[in-house]
Amino acid sequence: MVLANERSFQICARPSLMISDNDPRSSPVLDYLKQLHHTHAEFTGGEVATYIPELAKADPNWFAICLVTPDGQVYEVGDSKQQFTIQSISKPFVYGMALEDNTRSEVLAKIGMEPTGDAFNAISLESDTGRPRNPMINAGAIAAAGLVAGKSMSTRLQRILDTFSLYAGRELTVDEGVYSSESTTGHRNRAIGHMLRNFDIVDGDPTPIVDLYFKQCSISVNCRDLGIMAATLANHGVNPVTGKRAIRGEYVESVLSVMGSCGMYDYAGEWLYRVGMPAKSGVAGGIMAVLPGQLGIGIFSPPLDERGNSVRGIKVCDDFSRHFNLHLFNSPHANKAVIRLQYDGSQINSNRVRGDDEVFELRKSGRSIRVYQLQGNLVFSTAEVLVREIMSDLEDKKFVILDLKRTLEVNESACRLFHQLLLKLSAIGITLIFTHTSRAPMLRRYMKLKLGDRAAELYHAFDDNDPALEWCENKLLSELLPGYQSEYQLAPEQYELFQGLTPDEFTIIKGRLLLKTYRKGSVLVNTGDKALELFIVSKGSVSVVVTLASGSQKRLATFSSGMAFGEMALIDNATRSAIVVAETEVECHVLTVETFDALDDDHPHIKIVLLRNLAHSLSTKLRKVNREVSIFDY
Ligand code: GLN
Repeated sequence: MVLANERSFQICARPSLMISDNDPRSSPVLDYLKQLHHTHAEFTGGEVATYIPELAKADPNWFAICLVTPDGQVYEVGDSKQQFTIQSISKPFVYGMALEDNTRSEVLAKIGMEPTGDAFNAISLESDTGRPRNPMINAGAIAAAGLVAGKSMSTRLQRILDTFSLYAGRELTVDEGVYSSESTTGHRNRAIGHMLRNFDIVDGDPTPIVDLYFKQCSISVNCRDLGIMAATLANHGVNPVTGKRAIRGEYVESVLSVMGSCGMYDYAGEWLYRVGMPAKSGVAGGIMAVLPGQLGIGIFSPPLDERGNSVRGIKVCDDFSRHFNLHLFNSPHANKAVIRLQYDGSQINSNRVRGDDEVFELRKSGRSIRVYQLQGNLVFSTAEVLVREIMSDLEDKKFVILDLKRTLEVNESACRLFHQLLLKLSAIGITLIFTHTSRAPMLRRYMKLKLGDRAAELYHAFDDNDPALEWCENKLLSELLPGYQSEYQLAPEQYELFQGLTPDEFTIIKGRLLLKTYRKGSVLVNTGDKALELFIVSKGSVSVVVTLASGSQKRLATFSSGMAFGEMALIDNATRSAIVVAETEVECHVLTVETFDALDDDHPHIKIVLLRNLAHSLSTKLRKVNREVSIFDY
């Protein structure tokens, strides 16, 4: 009861999100940011930093917000092109470079990862080791600058500029005015540098390293850059606008961790509690915050609070996080929705058209082929649900097909569970099959690595469900039907179309058929052709293929000996709606529309039988589509 009240109080307490007099065609997200900007622009608290004289020139009214999504959409409002220096927001990026350029233990020997309750410029080193407590305070940041690779200070600076430019997606430079102002007044940072030298945290003369640190802080950015840099961290290190990688993915979580625990100095705890996003602020008035996988945001507003964080920046993030429930620890539920639907081989068959005894057998035994159509992200929690569901229903199963077509990501923990599942299933004679594996590039590599020599035998992957189902059906049928073979040749009297004719009638119609042969791969029927004939496969097999809106091709049906196709022509005289391709060398019996119509005059009964057989074959096809519609819920 108490909880319910609290919750409803929270919802009611939220201010209304949208401004009313906006352009009906503009994005609701942009409208929201404009509203947020408008609300906080009126606030005048805080002081522009003056301890670096050049920073004192900033206009306290400058104010910008820039939100960037991991697919590269940029929403910017206010003074988003106003240049300012990155200052301490450089620290996480340089820490990431230190991790890339050294072993992790080398970095950890010189810089800790514990938050301090101190100000950014405190001379706080661990008493025993002299190690700065974390890379977000100046001492740790100077140590990190000392770990950037490069023969000379100018090559190191160039590496920093090149990396920052990759994050921002444009070429960044040092603001020389701010740099010299900072260098002239930066005695405290020089003192920190000497303390670091005293404890052997930096090698040699600390002065050039402190100078490099001044330069990295003086790199000029705008709010749009900050948003994109944040989104690059949200996007596993790849700039979502340019598609270029700025940092190796494996280090992103370390960078975000220190931002999460130490990024806002002595406000870090309350920030994490209220806003719940890894973030970093700088004394020029910038803040960047990252919600991994979802967004990056940059805010610029020079007036600072007593801890050195942008006052408006904090307010914007606080509101934004509350309005949209963005707290990191509020992650969305992953649940059973991972299984979009499931069906088995008695309900849905491949598009290979089969004879009656095969159809009968698949109706009876197709349950042993189970298909799980999956959706969304396959991560630990969703893969666990799936694996549990599969394991709970193994009775009479021979094949389990995992259809990945609608998945977004299959991460390493899902691959790990699938590998274990595959081994368990194969030990009890069940084959695990993956389809649409282009959705999961890591899966193939993972299985090859883990299965080694046994990969070819155990790992089964198909581009589409249809060939996977056909493969399972063929295996099942060859087990269950004595003498089953997927390629066979029927005599014309066995053709479906001629069932129910008297021997004399059969002889008459047979005499009116033409025999045509086609090479493997040739096109028998083309979309848009005038339909003048019906075909019956005598030898080999043909596939009916349509081109989907996406441009890819899909097999609608494969016919083998004794089956008729192109029959709609005899009925509606329309043009062809799909192409038909020879899968093998093919021989067909052909009945022209003209011959068929001429039966009206001399053999109307033959025509009646043929029409009845055609109606039967069309209704079988329609029933298949009906079954698919009821299962797939198109
Ligand atoms: N260059 C500034 C300094 O070291 C950076 C500080 C900051 O942005 N908090 O003083």
